[in-house]
Amino acid sequence: MKGLRPFKLPLDKLISKDVKRAVLFILTVFLFLSAATACVPTGKPLDVAQDKTAAPVEAPPAKPAEPAKPAATGQFNVLNSSVIPDFPGKLLFNLKAENGANITDIRLHYTVVDREAFARVASEVFIEFTPGASIDVQWPWDMRKTGGLPTGAIIEYWWTLKDARGNQTETTPAKINFDDKRYAWQSITENNVTLYWYKGNQSFADELMASVQQALVRLADNTGAHLKKPVKLYIYANSRDVQGAMIFPQEWTGGAAFTEFGIIFLGIDSSNLEWGKGAIAHELSHLVVHQMTFNPYIEPPPWLDEGLATYNQGALDATFVGALKAAMSSNSLSSTRSLSSPFSAFPAQSYLAYAQSYSLVEYLLTTYGQSKMLELLTVFSEGSSYDGALKKVYGFDMDGLDTAWRSYVARRYPLTKGIIRPLPLALIRNSIEPAGITLDRLARVRAERRS
Ligand SMILES: [Zn+2]
Repeated sequence: MKGLRPFKLPLDKLISKDVKRAVLFILTVFLFLSAATACVPTGKPLDVAQDKTAAPVEAPPAKPAEPAKPAATGQFNVLNSSVIPDFPGKLLFNLKAENGANITDIRLHYTVVDREAFARVASEVFIEFTPGASIDVQWPWDMRKTGGLPTGAIIEYWWTLKDARGNQTETTPAKINFDDKRYAWQSITENNVTLYWYKGNQSFADELMASVQQALVRLADNTGAHLKKPVKLYIYANSRDVQGAMIFPQEWTGGAAFTEFGIIFLGIDSSNLEWGKGAIAHELSHLVVHQMTFNPYIEPPPWLDEGLATYNQGALDATFVGALKAAMSSNSLSSTRSLSSPFSAFPAQSYLAYAQSYSLVEYLLTTYGQSKMLELLTVFSEGSSYDGALKKVYGFDMDGLDTAWRSYVARRYPLTKGIIRPLPLALIRNSIEPAGITLDRLARVRAERRS
Protein backbone atom coordinates (compact mmCIF):
# COMPACT_ATOMS: atom_id res chain seq x y z
CA MET A 1 0.00 0.00 0.00
CA LYS A 2 0.60 0.13 -0.88
CA GLY A 3 -1.84 -0.49 1.81
CA LEU A 4 -2.34 0.42 5.35
CA ARG A 5 0.80 1.02 7.31
CA PRO A 6 0.10 2.23 10.81
CA PHE A 7 2.93 3.51 12.89
CA LYS A 8 3.40 3.93 16.58
CA LEU A 9 3.37 6.82 18.95
CA PRO A 10 6.76 8.42 19.37
CA LEU A 11 7.08 7.55 23.03
CA ASP A 12 5.89 4.03 22.75
CA LYS A 13 7.81 2.00 25.25
CA LEU A 14 6.09 -1.31 24.81
CA ILE A 15 8.51 -4.19 24.73
CA SER A 16 6.51 -6.14 22.22
CA LYS A 17 5.67 -3.19 20.05
CA ASP A 18 7.17 -4.47 16.81
CA VAL A 19 5.46 -7.77 17.11
CA LYS A 20 2.18 -6.00 17.75
CA ARG A 21 2.82 -3.75 14.85
CA ALA A 22 3.53 -6.60 12.52
CA VAL A 23 0.35 -8.34 13.54
CA LEU A 24 -1.72 -5.22 13.07
CA PHE A 25 -0.14 -4.43 9.75
CA ILE A 26 -0.69 -7.85 8.39
CA LEU A 27 -4.25 -7.90 9.65
CA THR A 28 -5.22 -4.45 8.53
CA VAL A 29 -3.51 -4.59 5.18
CA PHE A 30 -4.96 -7.97 4.46
CA LEU A 31 -8.39 -6.82 5.43
CA PHE A 32 -8.10 -3.50 3.72
CA LEU A 33 -7.04 -4.96 0.44
CA SER A 34 -9.82 -7.41 0.65
CA ALA A 35 -12.23 -4.50 0.55
CA ALA A 36 -12.55 -4.46 -3.21
CA THR A 37 -13.43 -8.10 -3.13
CA ALA A 38 -15.75 -7.77 -0.23
CA CYS A 39 -17.28 -10.84 1.28
CA VAL A 40 -20.88 -10.17 1.97
CA PRO A 41 -23.13 -11.74 4.50
CA THR A 42 -26.09 -12.26 2.25
CA GLY A 43 -24.75 -12.26 -1.24
CA LYS A 44 -22.09 -13.68 -3.47
CA PRO A 45 -19.30 -11.28 -4.30
CA LEU A 46 -17.64 -11.41 -7.65
CA ASP A 47 -14.71 -9.38 -8.87
CA VAL A 48 -15.03 -8.12 -12.35
CA ALA A 49 -12.03 -6.60 -14.04
CA GLN A 50 -13.22 -3.71 -16.12
CA ASP A 51 -11.67 -1.39 -18.57
CA LYS A 52 -11.70 2.16 -17.24
CA THR A 53 -13.57 3.30 -20.29
CA ALA A 54 -16.10 0.50 -20.25
CA ALA A 55 -19.59 1.81 -20.72
CA PRO A 56 -22.51 0.59 -18.65
CA VAL A 57 -24.18 -2.49 -20.04
CA GLU A 58 -27.01 -1.47 -22.28
CA ALA A 59 -30.40 -3.00 -22.05
CA PRO A 60 -31.32 -5.32 -24.91
CA PRO A 61 -33.63 -3.86 -27.58
CA ALA A 62 -37.33 -4.51 -27.29
CA LYS A 63 -38.41 -7.70 -29.01
CA PRO A 64 -39.94 -7.20 -32.47
CA ALA A 65 -42.87 -9.40 -31.45
CA GLU A 66 -43.90 -6.79 -28.93
CA PRO A 67 -43.63 -3.49 -30.80
CA ALA A 68 -45.87 -1.65 -28.41
CA LYS A 69 -43.58 -2.27 -25.47
CA PRO A 70 -41.48 0.75 -24.42
CA ALA A 71 -37.70 0.55 -24.38
CA ALA A 72 -36.46 -1.86 -21.77
CA THR A 73 -34.77 0.77 -19.68
CA GLY A 74 -37.97 2.76 -19.55
CA GLN A 75 -39.77 0.01 -17.75
CA PHE A 76 -37.80 0.39 -14.54
CA ASN A 77 -38.60 3.26 -12.29
CA VAL A 78 -35.80 3.84 -9.81
CA LEU A 79 -37.32 5.73 -6.88
CA ASN A 80 -34.23 5.87 -4.71
CA SER A 81 -30.60 4.92 -5.12
CA SER A 82 -28.47 6.14 -2.27
CA VAL A 83 -25.76 5.26 0.19
CA ILE A 84 -25.44 6.26 3.82
CA PRO A 85 -21.81 6.40 5.01
CA ASP A 86 -20.96 5.62 8.62
CA PHE A 87 -17.22 6.26 8.81
CA PRO A 88 -15.04 4.32 9.40
CA GLY A 89 -17.04 1.10 9.64
CA LYS A 90 -19.94 0.98 7.24
CA LEU A 91 -21.59 2.06 4.03
CA LEU A 92 -25.28 1.27 3.67
CA PHE A 93 -26.48 1.03 0.07
CA ASN A 94 -30.19 1.50 -0.62
CA LEU A 95 -32.28 0.87 -3.69
CA LYS A 96 -35.99 1.38 -4.21
CA ALA A 97 -37.46 0.62 -7.62
CA GLU A 98 -40.59 -0.59 -9.37
CA ASN A 99 -41.45 -2.26 -12.62
CA GLY A 100 -44.57 -3.47 -14.43
CA ALA A 101 -43.24 -6.99 -14.22
CA ASN A 102 -41.61 -8.68 -11.28
CA ILE A 103 -38.05 -7.54 -10.61
CA THR A 104 -36.13 -10.78 -10.31
CA ASP A 105 -32.46 -9.90 -10.16
CA ILE A 106 -30.64 -7.05 -8.39
CA ARG A 107 -26.93 -6.55 -8.26
CA LEU A 108 -24.88 -3.83 -6.66
CA HIS A 109 -21.57 -2.89 -8.24
CA TYR A 110 -18.97 -0.76 -6.52
CA THR A 111 -15.38 0.22 -6.96
CA VAL A 112 -12.89 2.34 -5.05
CA VAL A 113 -12.15 5.09 -7.52
CA ASP A 114 -8.90 6.64 -6.40
CA ARG A 115 -6.96 3.55 -5.51
CA GLU A 116 -4.00 3.19 -7.83
CA ALA A 117 -4.22 0.07 -9.92
CA PHE A 118 -3.49 -1.10 -13.43
CA ALA A 119 -6.92 -2.56 -13.96
CA ARG A 120 -10.05 -1.18 -12.46
CA VAL A 121 -11.72 -3.80 -10.33
CA ALA A 122 -15.40 -3.59 -9.50
CA SER A 123 -17.08 -5.77 -6.95
CA GLU A 124 -20.48 -7.21 -7.73
CA VAL A 125 -22.91 -8.13 -4.98
CA PHE A 126 -25.87 -10.40 -5.67
CA ILE A 127 -28.71 -9.07 -3.56
CA GLU A 128 -31.01 -11.60 -1.96
CA PHE A 129 -34.62 -10.41 -1.99
CA THR A 130 -38.16 -11.47 -2.74
CA PRO A 131 -39.01 -10.77 -6.40
CA GLY A 132 -41.83 -8.30 -6.86
CA ALA A 133 -43.13 -5.36 -8.88
CA SER A 134 -41.83 -3.03 -6.21
CA ILE A 135 -38.56 -3.59 -4.34
CA ASP A 136 -36.85 -1.83 -1.45
CA VAL A 137 -33.45 -3.39 -0.69
CA GLN A 138 -30.37 -2.54 1.31
CA TRP A 139 -26.86 -3.90 1.41
CA PRO A 140 -24.42 -3.04 4.18
CA TRP A 141 -20.72 -2.93 3.39
CA ASP A 142 -19.43 -3.88 6.80
CA MET A 143 -15.78 -2.91 6.90
CA ARG A 144 -15.19 -4.78 10.12
CA LYS A 145 -15.34 -7.84 7.86
CA THR A 146 -13.54 -6.50 4.84
CA GLY A 147 -11.07 -3.97 6.20
CA GLY A 148 -11.37 -0.22 6.17
CA LEU A 149 -10.82 2.60 3.76
CA PRO A 150 -9.02 5.84 4.56
CA THR A 151 -10.88 9.07 4.99
CA GLY A 152 -10.91 10.75 1.62
CA ALA A 153 -11.58 7.52 -0.31
CA ILE A 154 -14.13 7.81 -3.10
CA ILE A 155 -16.46 4.94 -3.95
CA GLU A 156 -18.40 4.68 -7.18
CA TYR A 157 -21.46 2.44 -7.31
CA TRP A 158 -24.31 1.46 -9.58
CA TRP A 159 -27.06 -1.14 -9.71
CA THR A 160 -28.22 -3.53 -12.38
CA LEU A 161 -31.78 -4.87 -12.38
CA LYS A 162 -33.60 -7.48 -14.40
CA ASP A 163 -37.29 -8.23 -14.62
CA ALA A 164 -39.24 -11.39 -15.31
CA ARG A 165 -39.57 -10.45 -18.98
CA GLY A 166 -35.83 -10.41 -19.41
CA ASN A 167 -35.52 -6.65 -19.54
CA GLN A 168 -32.66 -5.09 -17.67
CA THR A 169 -31.32 -1.70 -16.74
CA GLU A 170 -28.34 -0.17 -15.10
CA THR A 171 -28.40 2.95 -12.97
CA THR A 172 -26.07 5.83 -13.69
CA PRO A 173 -22.87 5.42 -11.62
CA ALA A 174 -22.81 7.67 -8.57
CA LYS A 175 -19.92 8.59 -6.28
CA ILE A 176 -19.77 8.84 -2.53
CA ASN A 177 -16.95 10.42 -0.54
CA PHE A 178 -16.14 8.24 2.46
CA ASP A 179 -14.97 11.07 4.69
CA ASP A 180 -14.32 11.30 8.40
CA LYS A 181 -17.04 13.81 9.21
CA ARG A 182 -16.45 13.74 12.96
CA TYR A 183 -14.39 16.90 12.55
CA ALA A 184 -14.70 20.22 10.78
CA TRP A 185 -11.72 19.90 8.47
CA GLN A 186 -9.94 22.91 7.07
CA SER A 187 -7.49 22.53 4.25
CA ILE A 188 -4.59 24.15 2.47
CA THR A 189 -3.08 23.00 -0.81
CA GLU A 190 0.39 23.54 -2.16
CA ASN A 191 2.25 21.73 -4.95
CA ASN A 192 0.18 18.55 -5.15
CA VAL A 193 -0.26 18.23 -1.37
CA THR A 194 -3.51 19.04 0.40
CA LEU A 195 -3.18 19.21 4.15
CA TYR A 196 -6.36 18.79 6.20
CA TRP A 197 -6.55 19.74 9.87
CA TYR A 198 -9.21 20.67 12.39
CA LYS A 199 -7.39 21.67 15.55
CA GLY A 200 -4.83 24.42 15.77
CA ASN A 201 -4.63 27.76 14.04
CA GLN A 202 -3.56 28.64 10.54
CA SER A 203 0.08 29.03 11.55
CA PHE A 204 0.10 25.41 12.86
CA ALA A 205 -1.05 24.19 9.46
CA ASP A 206 1.32 26.55 7.67
CA GLU A 207 4.24 25.23 9.69
CA LEU A 208 3.39 21.64 8.81
CA MET A 209 2.88 22.54 5.16
CA ALA A 210 6.27 24.26 5.15
CA SER A 211 7.86 21.07 6.44
CA VAL A 212 5.99 19.09 3.77
CA GLN A 213 7.40 21.30 1.04
CA GLN A 214 10.90 21.19 2.53
CA ALA A 215 10.74 17.39 2.63
CA LEU A 216 9.67 17.24 -1.02
CA VAL A 217 12.38 19.67 -2.10
CA ARG A 218 15.00 17.72 -0.11
CA LEU A 219 13.89 14.48 -1.74
CA ALA A 220 13.93 16.02 -5.20
CA ASP A 221 17.36 17.55 -4.65
CA ASN A 222 18.78 14.24 -3.51
CA THR A 223 17.06 11.89 -5.91
CA GLY A 224 15.24 13.82 -8.62
CA ALA A 225 12.04 12.08 -7.50
CA HIS A 226 8.86 14.08 -7.18
CA LEU A 227 5.13 13.63 -6.69
CA LYS A 228 3.38 12.82 -9.94
CA LYS A 229 -0.11 12.85 -8.48
CA PRO A 230 -1.83 14.76 -5.68
CA VAL A 231 -1.64 13.39 -2.15
CA LYS A 232 -3.73 14.09 0.94
CA LEU A 233 -2.37 14.52 4.44
CA TYR A 234 -4.85 14.39 7.32
CA ILE A 235 -3.61 15.86 10.60
CA TYR A 236 -5.62 14.58 13.55
CA ALA A 237 -5.30 16.35 16.89
CA ASN A 238 -4.04 13.29 18.73
CA SER A 239 -3.62 9.54 18.56
CA ARG A 240 -7.05 8.90 20.05
CA ASP A 241 -8.69 10.71 17.15
CA VAL A 242 -6.48 8.77 14.72
CA GLN A 243 -7.59 5.50 16.24
CA GLY A 244 -11.22 6.58 15.84
CA ALA A 245 -10.61 6.60 12.08
CA MET A 246 -9.47 2.98 12.04
CA ILE A 247 -11.41 -0.26 12.10
CA PHE A 248 -9.12 -2.16 14.44
CA PRO A 249 -6.86 0.43 16.11
CA GLN A 250 -4.16 -0.46 18.60
CA GLU A 251 -3.43 1.77 21.55
CA TRP A 252 -0.05 2.71 20.12
CA THR A 253 -1.25 3.59 16.62
CA GLY A 254 -0.23 7.18 15.88
CA GLY A 255 -1.06 7.25 12.20
CA ALA A 256 -1.33 5.30 8.99
CA ALA A 257 -0.33 5.61 5.37
CA PHE A 258 -2.24 4.35 2.34
CA THR A 259 0.30 4.56 -0.46
CA GLU A 260 -2.09 3.31 -3.14
CA PHE A 261 -4.46 6.14 -2.30
CA GLY A 262 -1.77 8.75 -1.74
CA ILE A 263 -3.21 9.33 1.72
CA ILE A 264 -1.40 9.74 5.04
CA PHE A 265 -2.98 10.46 8.38
CA LEU A 266 -1.18 11.35 11.57
CA GLY A 267 -1.94 12.51 15.09
CA ILE A 268 0.12 15.66 15.57
CA ASP A 269 -0.13 18.45 18.11
CA SER A 270 2.29 20.96 19.54
CA SER A 271 3.72 18.38 21.95
CA ASN A 272 4.96 16.04 19.21
CA LEU A 273 5.46 18.50 16.39
CA GLU A 274 9.03 17.49 15.64
CA TRP A 275 8.09 13.80 15.56
CA GLY A 276 5.24 14.75 13.25
CA LYS A 277 7.51 16.59 10.84
CA GLY A 278 9.84 13.60 10.69
CA ALA A 279 6.92 11.24 10.12
CA ILE A 280 5.66 13.46 7.31
CA ALA A 281 9.09 13.50 5.63
CA HIS A 282 9.40 9.71 5.93
CA GLU A 283 5.90 8.90 4.71
CA LEU A 284 5.94 11.41 1.88
CA SER A 285 9.11 9.74 0.63
CA HIS A 286 7.28 6.40 0.50
CA LEU A 287 4.44 8.00 -1.47
CA VAL A 288 6.85 9.62 -3.93
CA VAL A 289 8.90 6.44 -4.39
CA HIS A 290 5.67 4.50 -4.89
CA GLN A 291 4.49 6.93 -7.56
CA MET A 292 7.90 6.98 -9.27
CA THR A 293 8.28 3.19 -9.43
CA PHE A 294 4.70 1.88 -9.65
CA ASN A 295 4.53 -1.08 -12.00
CA PRO A 296 2.60 -4.34 -12.09
CA TYR A 297 5.59 -6.58 -11.52
CA ILE A 298 7.86 -5.62 -8.67
CA GLU A 299 8.43 -2.91 -6.11
CA PRO A 300 11.80 -1.47 -5.12
CA PRO A 301 13.80 -3.42 -2.55
CA PRO A 302 13.07 -2.53 1.09
CA TRP A 303 16.60 -1.22 1.67
CA LEU A 304 16.06 1.37 -1.07
CA ASP A 305 12.51 2.41 -0.13
CA GLU A 306 13.18 2.59 3.61
CA GLY A 307 16.66 3.99 3.06
CA LEU A 308 15.34 6.89 1.00
CA ALA A 309 12.54 7.55 3.51
CA THR A 310 14.91 7.52 6.47
CA TYR A 311 17.48 9.58 4.59
CA ASN A 312 14.78 12.13 3.81
CA GLN A 313 14.17 12.62 7.52
CA GLY A 314 17.63 14.09 7.96
CA ALA A 315 20.78 12.93 9.72
CA LEU A 316 20.77 9.39 11.06
CA ASP A 317 19.64 9.25 14.68
CA ALA A 318 22.36 8.39 17.20
CA THR A 319 20.56 5.17 18.16
CA PHE A 320 20.79 3.94 14.60
CA VAL A 321 24.41 4.96 14.24
CA GLY A 322 25.02 2.97 17.41
CA ALA A 323 23.28 -0.07 15.97
CA LEU A 324 25.37 0.22 12.81
CA LYS A 325 28.65 0.55 14.68
CA ALA A 326 27.77 -2.30 16.99
CA ALA A 327 27.08 -4.58 14.02
CA MET A 328 30.33 -3.50 12.38
CA SER A 329 32.34 -4.22 15.50
CA SER A 330 30.76 -7.64 15.93
CA ASN A 331 30.95 -8.40 12.22
CA SER A 332 27.20 -8.93 12.06
CA LEU A 333 26.10 -6.53 9.33
CA SER A 334 23.29 -7.87 7.18
CA SER A 335 23.88 -8.49 3.50
CA THR A 336 22.29 -6.12 1.02
CA ARG A 337 20.62 -9.14 -0.51
CA SER A 338 18.94 -9.96 2.80
CA LEU A 339 17.79 -6.33 3.10
CA SER A 340 15.99 -6.82 -0.19
CA SER A 341 13.48 -8.97 1.69
CA PRO A 342 11.05 -7.75 4.36
CA PHE A 343 12.77 -6.51 7.50
CA SER A 344 12.73 -8.43 10.74
CA ALA A 345 10.05 -7.57 13.27
CA PHE A 346 12.57 -8.00 16.09
CA PRO A 347 13.72 -4.62 17.43
CA ALA A 348 17.49 -5.05 17.23
CA GLN A 349 17.48 -6.46 13.69
CA SER A 350 14.87 -3.93 12.61
CA TYR A 351 16.96 -0.98 13.83
CA LEU A 352 20.02 -2.34 12.10
CA ALA A 353 18.03 -2.86 8.88
CA TYR A 354 16.91 0.79 8.85
CA ALA A 355 20.40 2.01 9.75
CA GLN A 356 22.00 -0.04 6.97
CA SER A 357 19.34 1.04 4.49
CA TYR A 358 20.05 4.67 5.31
CA SER A 359 23.76 4.07 4.91
CA LEU A 360 23.38 2.23 1.59
CA VAL A 361 21.34 5.12 0.20
CA GLU A 362 23.83 7.63 1.60
CA TYR A 363 26.62 5.72 -0.13
CA LEU A 364 24.85 5.68 -3.48
CA LEU A 365 23.85 9.35 -3.29
CA THR A 366 27.16 10.73 -2.10
CA THR A 367 29.21 8.56 -4.47
CA TYR A 368 27.12 8.50 -7.65
CA GLY A 369 24.79 11.47 -7.25
CA GLN A 370 21.20 12.41 -7.92
CA SER A 371 20.98 11.51 -11.60
CA LYS A 372 21.96 7.88 -11.02
CA MET A 373 19.37 7.51 -8.25
CA LEU A 374 16.70 8.93 -10.52
CA GLU A 375 17.82 6.50 -13.20
CA LEU A 376 17.58 3.65 -10.70
CA LEU A 377 14.01 4.57 -9.75
CA THR A 378 13.11 4.86 -13.42
CA VAL A 379 14.55 1.43 -14.18
CA PHE A 380 12.54 -0.01 -11.28
CA SER A 381 9.39 1.56 -12.73
CA GLU A 382 9.96 -0.66 -15.77
CA GLY A 383 9.71 -3.73 -13.57
CA SER A 384 13.42 -4.57 -13.54
CA SER A 385 14.86 -7.15 -11.14
CA TYR A 386 16.93 -5.89 -8.22
CA ASP A 387 20.21 -7.17 -9.62
CA GLY A 388 19.30 -6.12 -13.14
CA ALA A 389 18.46 -2.55 -12.14
CA LEU A 390 21.64 -2.06 -10.13
CA LYS A 391 23.76 -3.59 -12.87
CA LYS A 392 22.21 -1.38 -15.52
CA VAL A 393 22.61 1.87 -13.55
CA TYR A 394 25.71 1.35 -11.43
CA GLY A 395 27.45 -1.57 -13.08
CA PHE A 396 27.28 -3.86 -10.03
CA ASP A 397 24.66 -6.20 -8.64
CA MET A 398 23.51 -6.53 -5.02
CA ASP A 399 26.63 -8.41 -4.01
CA GLY A 400 28.82 -5.81 -5.72
CA LEU A 401 26.94 -3.06 -3.90
CA ASP A 402 27.45 -4.91 -0.65
CA THR A 403 31.20 -5.11 -1.13
CA ALA A 404 31.54 -1.45 -2.12
CA TRP A 405 29.29 -0.29 0.70
CA ARG A 406 31.18 -2.24 3.39
CA SER A 407 34.35 -0.48 2.39
CA TYR A 408 32.46 2.87 2.45
CA VAL A 409 30.86 2.35 5.84
CA ALA A 410 34.19 1.31 7.38
CA ARG A 411 35.60 4.68 6.28
CA ARG A 412 32.43 6.52 7.31
CA TYR A 413 32.40 5.13 10.84
CA PRO A 414 35.97 4.19 11.76
CA LEU A 415 35.94 1.88 14.74
CA THR A 416 38.27 2.23 17.68
CA LYS A 417 39.03 -1.18 18.99
CA GLY A 418 37.76 -1.83 22.47
CA ILE A 419 35.38 1.15 22.53
CA ILE A 420 32.47 0.04 20.36
CA ARG A 421 30.27 -2.54 21.95
CA PRO A 422 26.88 -3.84 20.92
CA LEU A 423 24.07 -1.70 22.24
CA PRO A 424 22.16 -3.22 25.12
CA LEU A 425 18.89 -4.50 23.73
CA ALA A 426 16.95 -2.60 26.37
CA LEU A 427 18.43 0.65 25.10
CA ILE A 428 17.40 -0.14 21.56
CA ARG A 429 13.92 -1.11 22.63
CA ASN A 430 13.35 1.92 24.79
CA SER A 431 14.80 4.60 22.61
CA ILE A 432 12.45 7.10 21.05
CA GLU A 433 11.75 5.93 17.56
CA PRO A 434 12.42 8.32 14.73
CA ALA A 435 9.22 9.12 13.00
CA GLY A 436 7.68 6.80 10.56
CA ILE A 437 10.17 3.98 10.70
CA THR A 438 7.85 1.73 12.60
CA LEU A 439 6.12 0.70 9.42
CA ASP A 440 5.85 -2.91 8.69
CA ARG A 441 7.45 -3.77 5.46
CA LEU A 442 6.37 -7.36 5.57
CA ALA A 443 2.74 -6.35 5.59
CA ARG A 444 3.29 -3.94 2.75
CA VAL A 445 4.98 -6.46 0.54
CA ARG A 446 2.36 -9.09 1.23
CA ALA A 447 -0.35 -6.59 0.49
CA GLU A 448 1.21 -5.62 -2.76
CA ARG A 449 1.50 -9.22 -3.85
CA ARG A 450 -2.18 -9.67 -3.16
CA SER A 451 -3.24 -6.56 -4.99
ZN1 LIG B 1 9.17 3.48 6.13
